[in-house]
Amino acid sequence: MSVRAGREFLAIPGPTTVPDEVLQAMHRPAVDIYSGPLLALTDSLLRDVARVFNTTGRAYIYIANGHGVWEAVVTNVLSKGDKILVLESGRFAINWGEHARRLGVEVEILKGDIRRAVRPSEVEARLKADRGATIKAIMVAQIDTATGVVNDIPAIGQAIRAAKHDALLMVDAVASLGCMPFDMDAWGVDVAMSGSQKGMMTPPGLGFVAANARAREIHKTAGLRTPYWDWTDREGDVHYQKYCGTPPEHLLFGLRQALDMLFAEGLENAFRRHWLLAEAVRRAVGVWSQREAIGFNIIEPSERSDTVTAVLLNSHDPQQLRAYCDKNCGVILGHGIGDLTGKAFRIAHMGHVNAPMILGTLSVVEMALGALGIPHGKGGVQAAIDWLSDQVKA
Ligand SMILES: *Cc1c(COP(=O)(O)O)cnc(C)c1O
Repeated sequence: MSVRAGREFLAIPGPTTVPDEVLQAMHRPAVDIYSGPLLALTDSLLRDVARVFNTTGRAYIYIANGHGVWEAVVTNVLSKGDKILVLESGRFAINWGEHARRLGVEVEILKGDIRRAVRPSEVEARLKADRGATIKAIMVAQIDTATGVVNDIPAIGQAIRAAKHDALLMVDAVASLGCMPFDMDAWGVDVAMSGSQKGMMTPPGLGFVAANARAREIHKTAGLRTPYWDWTDREGDVHYQKYCGTPPEHLLFGLRQALDMLFAEGLENAFRRHWLLAEAVRRAVGVWSQREAIGFNIIEPSERSDTVTAVLLNSHDPQQLRAYCDKNCGVILGHGIGDLTGKAFRIAHMGHVNAPMILGTLSVVEMALGALGIPHGKGGVQAAIDWLSDQVKA
């Protein structure tokens, strides 16, 4: 017997729920790519993408997913044989580094582990030891979607300055942009990248890069530049060149609507909403974890991200739990990836989410824990509700 009929809820960390308004904004005929409304649309999007990254630097919009814009970043600022330092805290920065390695960059990994954030002091120590300044750039993910960790980007920027090192700071903000603060210029981030399908509430297919003046200066002599990704080619006045070909019109109309919604809510309010809902998830998982079959992947509470929570299941199969939630209730949870494959499930709380979506998801997980006989502390959902009623006043 299932209680699945009705609207399915996708609680995976990307793609996320696309608002109906965004879908509707895309439902229109194609328009001219050489004149008319598309030109002003592009200008407004480039300006507002930079605004979301909080930079006076330049933004670029690519037809690509996150993996594509990883390559855009590497090829625009690095040369064959350059060395970079990848800060490990899960899977995503490592994969980005792997792209760089395959493009001919020498990659050193600053060892971390999947249950904690990057330690800025270790970054500082490694950079201080780099006497010949051989490290050209540093790669880090603000939120690692595999482990659910949030890295302290301002502290990492501070560590680089404390070491008096001038490596470029390159940040993956795919799972965090639009969901938590990103203060590119103030934090000393030189290049940042993201995608459309997570906090930005738009279908997959657009990738964003923001680069400051220092990165754009280094770009001039970068040896890995390729025609499609090249910033210089996209900076000209010709609209067609800004996308290196036909613009992804419908996605751009969708993105415009998503940004309008984000600005109407207010970025600060959106960040606070994410924090409140993330904390509701953490309250529930905290209660379930009173029995040892369940636990947080990220050990330190302050290092748990506001967009995704990775929950460990000890001696029970997370796939069984996911299958129960999907088949019986229409809730699709994220599975464990990387080192957490087969050991965890993930609850996404990013983008176009509200209290019923999150409380509903938590209720379904608690229902599944009961139905499958997985020992857990009772009253997780109640703890989430109590948290929200306490914080969200009339
Ligand atoms: C999802 C994600 C990516 C990859 O994005 P794709 O669009 O799937 O290529 C990269 N980094 C982080 C942190 C992500 O969450």
